Amino acid sequence: MSKTIFEHSSTGRKGVCLPPREFDTALESLIPEKYLRKNAARLPELSELDVMRHYIELSHKNHFIEKGLYPLGSCTMKYNPKIHESLVRHTCFANLHPYQHESTLQGALELLYELQEDLAEISGMAKVTLQPVAGAQGEFTGIKIISAYHKAKGNTHKTKIIIPDSAHGTNPASCNLVGFDVVELKSDADGRCDLARLKEIVDENTAGFMLTNPNTLGLFETQIEQIAEILHSVDALIYMDGANLNALLGIVQPGKIGFDVIHFNLHKTFSTPHGGGGPGAGPVGVAEKLIPYLPVPMVTKQDGVYHLDYSNESTSIGKVHGFYGNFAVLVRAYIYIKMLGAKGLRRISENAIINANYLMAILKDYYHIQHLEPCMHEFVADGTMQKKENGVSTLDIAKRLLDKGFHAPTIYFPLIIPEAMMIEPTETESIESLDAFAEAMIEIAQEAKENPELLHEAPLTTPVRRVDDVRAVKMLDPIFKIEN
Ligand SMILES: *Cc1c(COP(=O)(O)O)cnc(C)c1O
Repeated sequence: MSKTIFEHSSTGRKGVCLPPREFDTALESLIPEKYLRKNAARLPELSELDVMRHYIELSHKNHFIEKGLYPLGSCTMKYNPKIHESLVRHTCFANLHPYQHESTLQGALELLYELQEDLAEISGMAKVTLQPVAGAQGEFTGIKIISAYHKAKGNTHKTKIIIPDSAHGTNPASCNLVGFDVVELKSDADGRCDLARLKEIVDENTAGFMLTNPNTLGLFETQIEQIAEILHSVDALIYMDGANLNALLGIVQPGKIGFDVIHFNLHKTFSTPHGGGGPGAGPVGVAEKLIPYLPVPMVTKQDGVYHLDYSNESTSIGKVHGFYGNFAVLVRAYIYIKMLGAKGLRRISENAIINANYLMAILKDYYHIQHLEPCMHEFVADGTMQKKENGVSTLDIAKRLLDKGFHAPTIYFPLIIPEAMMIEPTETESIESLDAFAEAMIEIAQEAKENPELLHEAPLTTPVRRVDDVRAVKMLDPIFKIEN
């Protein structure tokens, strides 16, 4: 174990010398005697260099994209260009206040307006709101819009939404939150929507259908037009979970093949660091007939002037977040889109798809892959062979990858593939880093045969070894220790 910052401390050592502040003594006289410290705080005393070394060392205990490949399927852990970070911190963005009058916000509103327009063009949707701050909140917003559409039409009998069994857990959760019942659709043998089964379960009570495309197996759902026809025939709407949009940029416009609502995960596809759980942005795009229900305000443009427009207020689902969403994430997405342009965006998806197929082609000889056809930007391998032959689980394989300097893929998801390992290399990896990852996976397959014990013990080299999941569930509050 390395030393803590307190153990490095040496009395009298200093990084910076701050001038005494008169303010402090003035403040002290206002605080009742009983609240004043009797002893000086025991803060570590270090030089600036010591502090820098401490934090750099701490940062390396974690995994991050600049340290190594991060193939966490569905999460699109691509490299986020650093120019975003310096531009978004510029005072012209950072010093804005949401209560400023719109006449003083024209530049910011222009940026938001153009981002709305660009996302509408990318997705083929009629209009986009930037307000939701996560993919999951985008889902909630989109499903709420579907609900408002049916309410306005008097479709009160429409109480159910159909979702495939390969869906992300947030999909049914969002539907439940809005008040819909969820009906599960089983995937067919080739991992896509079972059209015959869909026809059976769609009826007058169906409010909508929620689909991820490409789906969580990394397969493009090819029958969208037929699916749209089935649902639209009973006035139900189709929602696209756009978390996997990284595979479709400049290639497919979901709005043009039948989807009525889509959410974007800007932090995934359009590049914002999101390893720590946020902040994100989950804009929602809708077809023409759903525009009246979008959250307010929308950013509109009239005679060259930008407005925060509340004119939809009487039909809108209302606000889903304070002010206008996560502005700094929106700025990053704007910069990313403008820097790449239409051709650059298309190359992102092409390269993401090529990278995933390259890895799949190598790994198929070492790991079982249920759906072996060419994939989109990710694929799902599994550990069933290792489990059966060597008693090694996917969890063991994932933990061993950490020893080899890689983040693990998404594991045990989608739920329909036993021992699943969902691998998404993204477009930002070079062929050399893909090869290095493949090499590590091949070594692990070999270790599974020769030394399964080693894999049960992994990780061996990380600052924290394998956590005890069962104990963690039992000990939710670390303050109260449970004695065995
Ligand atoms: C990430 C993801 C979501 C949820 O998005 P958040 O931005 O994390 O809320 C939904 N569906 C799929 C398929 C995802 O990968």
